[in-house]
Amino acid sequence: MDKKTFRGWINYLESKGLLIRVNKNVDPAYQLGALTEKMDGENAVLFEHVGDYEMPVVSNLCFSRECFRLCMEVDRDKLVEHISNAIEQPEPCTHVESAPFKENIIEGDLDVLKELPVPTYHEDDAGPYVTGGLVIAKDPETGNRNVSIHRLLASGKDTFGILMLPRHLRLCYDKARALGQPLEIAIVIGIDPLTLLASQAILPFGADELEVANSLHGDRALQLTRCTKVDVEVPAEAEIVLEGKIQLEERAMEGPFGEFPKYYSPPEMRPVIKVNTISYRKDPVYYTILPASREHLLIGGLAREASLLKSIRSCVPSVRQVHLTFGGTCRYHLVISIEKMNEGEAKNAILAAMGNNADIKHVVVVDQDVDIFNMEEVEWAVATRCQGDKDILIIPDSLGSKLDPSTNKGIGAKMGIDATVPLGQLSARFKRIRIPGYDELIFEDFFD
Ligand code: MN
Repeated sequence: MDKKTFRGWINYLESKGLLIRVNKNVDPAYQLGALTEKMDGENAVLFEHVGDYEMPVVSNLCFSRECFRLCMEVDRDKLVEHISNAIEQPEPCTHVESAPFKENIIEGDLDVLKELPVPTYHEDDAGPYVTGGLVIAKDPETGNRNVSIHRLLASGKDTFGILMLPRHLRLCYDKARALGQPLEIAIVIGIDPLTLLASQAILPFGADELEVANSLHGDRALQLTRCTKVDVEVPAEAEIVLEGKIQLEERAMEGPFGEFPKYYSPPEMRPVIKVNTISYRKDPVYYTILPASREHLLIGGLAREASLLKSIRSCVPSVRQVHLTFGGTCRYHLVISIEKMNEGEAKNAILAAMGNNADIKHVVVVDQDVDIFNMEEVEWAVATRCQGDKDILIIPDSLGSKLDPSTNKGIGAKMGIDATVPLGQLSARFKRIRIPGYDELIFEDFFD
């Protein structure tokens, strides 16, 4: 089975021993989240029995960078480059009439929480949240599609509270409101890792994330199909599709919710989605993302790395790789490796990174001999190649992340650390110790 599909990927992980089945009943409130957290970064998990629901629940499907590498079949050091190329070369999707999810359509008297095993995660959360759903909508003026992921509070039988940051879905919604219309949307739950990743691509408004997904799929054309009620196309292989509208004026409390920085985001009056249809394929599997898990951090982090690589490289061509670290919640801490051609380039790379997006807070630049995915190596470079009075750059009072509680409503300092050696010194004063033959040695050869 094609591992670039949702079900194919689950089967692939299981065949590699990377998916654990939980066969005892788990409570969708807290217990499911606690078990998922135990396997964070280690394994995918399939909960066969969740509360009184028939639907199994899968989570941690993209629990490491290695998962994405395997799914895309690229080398570790080429992963971000590969994503960046797909963003540069979107591929138009093909369209089909029929789709498996159209086999079971529920309309009329809906009860989302009766149909779907929506988990409640953290202790202060306002309630059960859909966390792994793609929200697909169209610009009401141009018809251009937009795909994004939003936390969705299951607030009533057929309603969700939604957080829309001032990005593309919000723009579509504001345009619809100006026309006096609610915004039609589809919520897609249960989709392959590459489409999830593409939904987070940093694109200009108007560009279609599904075309990036199609490009990431390679020769397998991503097929779209029109929803049953709303005028929105969704991937035909979706497990579960909810259709509805973001209401024109209705507002309701949404939050608190435990977010990616591992703190709560406070409650506020926010827009409301009214759902009119739930459809799902035969024996559907519900997909959910544990907030602040590696899966959550990576889906957004890899897309941001692709954007960072491109924009830093346009200023500093000697950039080799970038890494948004887990410790920095894949948003705030960036490590850059460069193959320095000119003195001072590390500081230019720091400035370019800080200009790419407001979330970037601390940046470390290292030479090409440092493995930027090994944080012990990065720390070693800071320990032995950096002097605090010359190599640290601090920009006060700039815009950062509003979710970083140490900022003043998002205003805070940024810091860059140049941990590169002086030009030409990698083979002199900074020559690394090395045991001859180490790289070629095969350990097993020395045992019978
Ligand atoms: Mn967009």
